[in-house]
Amino acid sequence: MIMEAERQQIVDYGKKMSASGLSVGTSGNISIYDPETGYMAISPSGLGYFDTEAKDIVVMDLDGNIIDGERKPSSEHGLHTIVYKNRPEARAVVHTHSPYATTLAGMHKTLKPVHYAMMGCNVDEVPLVPYVTFGTPELAEAVGEVLRAVPDTRVVLLANHGDVCYQANLPKAFGLAENIEFTARIQWQAMCAGEAVYLTHEQMETARERSKTYGQQGK
Ligand SMILES: [Zn+2]
Repeated sequence: MIMEAERQQIVDYGKKMSASGLSVGTSGNISIYDPETGYMAISPSGLGYFDTEAKDIVVMDLDGNIIDGERKPSSEHGLHTIVYKNRPEARAVVHTHSPYATTLAGMHKTLKPVHYAMMGCNVDEVPLVPYVTFGTPELAEAVGEVLRAVPDTRVVLLANHGDVCYQANLPKAFGLAENIEFTARIQWQAMCAGEAVYLTHEQMETARERSKTYGQQGK
């Protein structure tokens, strides 16, 4: 089986995504990209995360051709390929309908630095992609436009839909999705209770600098 390790990692993180509440039902999807072959492994369409096995993960190229797999790929495969095409450093993409990030997206609000946990987004304000029907090439193109307009961002919110993020590997991309959801929740709660106070660009830069020496470096 080609990309066996990547397929298994997608299975494992799909279960995590479901258990953590980042995705409801069969919503959300995960992919991993291998730049050597130019292939992307992606979760299948409409299959529960706890019913998915490595063989159900679909391998595609970035032109949308299926290379290996029996299943239909996620309907949002175009959304994933547009990220890899616009961000050469991306190796994993996570797309969720996580409730608080989607609340902001449902209000056509951007995600703001109400907590330094969002520093992995690599921007102080996460841009919003205008509403486009799910699973369409037009949605993928709209995401591509925003990625090109905001070259540093690792995350976009999708109006009335959810969010998309990428990182250098799947554990990091999943962690980023969790931090986006946490920050969105704090922003929404602060907006409900009164007025959120946002960190400045300088404060976010200092946090990003500090994070480079935080934790178990090199692990
Ligand atoms: Zn979606």
